[in-house]
Amino acid sequence: MDLYEHQARELFEEHGIVVPRAEVTDSPKEAREIARRLGGRVVVKAQVKIGGRGKAGGVEFAADPAAAELTARQILGMDIKGHTVGKVMLAQPVDIESEFYVSYVLDRAAGRFLAIASAEGGMEIEEVAASRPEAVARIHIDPAEGVTSAKASEIAEAAGLPPQTVDVLVRLWEVLVREDAVLVEVNPLVRTEQGQILALDGKVTLDDNARFRQARWGADHVEHADALEAAAAAKGLNYVKLDGEVGIIGNGAGLVMSTLDAVAGCGARPANFLDIGGGASARIMADGLSVILSDPAVKSVFVNVFGGITACDAVADGIVQALDAVQLTKPLVVRLDGNNAARGHAILDERAHPLVQQATTMDGAASRAARLATAN
Ligand code: GDP
Ligand code: MN
Repeated sequence: MDLYEHQARELFEEHGIVVPRAEVTDSPKEAREIARRLGGRVVVKAQVKIGGRGKAGGVEFAADPAAAELTARQILGMDIKGHTVGKVMLAQPVDIESEFYVSYVLDRAAGRFLAIASAEGGMEIEEVAASRPEAVARIHIDPAEGVTSAKASEIAEAAGLPPQTVDVLVRLWEVLVREDAVLVEVNPLVRTEQGQILALDGKVTLDDNARFRQARWGADHVEHADALEAAAAAKGLNYVKLDGEVGIIGNGAGLVMSTLDAVAGCGARPANFLDIGGGASARIMADGLSVILSDPAVKSVFVNVFGGITACDAVADGIVQALDAVQLTKPLVVRLDGNNAARGHAILDERAHPLVQQATTMDGAASRAARLATAN
């Protein structure tokens, strides 16, 4: 889960990283009060879990409390790349001398965290990395050692950051470890004209596997960027929205992943990942179907089940009951194999729903679902 900038800022502050004075609100009137408390002139910043707010008009200076109220009114409710602004943070402006980029990110391929740092901060790091790769230092962290002062010096030196950033690099690593994060990013980390080092913007992604010990963030932990994912999570479904047109339901994460591959191999794109797990009850099947059918991008649905402990006839019963509960609006291709497959097929044949087709092999079903999706 991603934290908001103001939450990341709070964590930075707790770990001794200097941040600008700031307060958060959802009310323009209160924004005026906050600006007064902060000395009048402020930066008004949209709180959305997406980068590039500055370019999108979500980071604006206000010269005095009255302007802060107006600016807050303008930014609140704004849409930034599909994210609606519910809160703004008002921060004391800082006189920037230089902007740097620093982050620690989990490098899954290497099985280690990777420090990424650059003396060219402020912009999107991807752009810097693309145009001037030599300006971006990338250094892996030994998990047993972490970021010691020596390691931090190595990172700062490689990136051309001033020596005062070494302390911040060590503390930022503490944030990552103590708060169970898989990403911490500061862009920009700045040196002020007075020579002070401050974190002006922060992004923290927590490890969802550690949510049991990060109760502090409460309901934020189950917040989903995508409305369908939120609806699926509310129903306890293991669902991930993807970009394609073939809806996918399967039992078992491995089977669902190979189903995605099979569909992609037939020239169509999967619309989602949905693993209904072991107990494919009618309730779960109906919930899964209703989530998938409410995705306007879906043109066909592929149900791929391998009967094991939950036999295919039980799954077929589940599908039949789901067809009564949910109005099927798109063609459904069902492939049942394994335990009691024949009985499962018979149950679906008997129901004889005009939009339901059966296939005997996974590849056959995938190509049929792909054809139905691309034909419509
Ligand atoms: P982002 O666009 O979502 O990354 O939002 P940031 O918080 O990084 O703000 C975008 C840019 O606004 C920063 O890179 C800075 O250049 C500028 N900015 C933000 N706060 C301040 C500030 O207090 N003083 C100055 N001079 N610039 C700021
Ligand atoms: Mn930024």
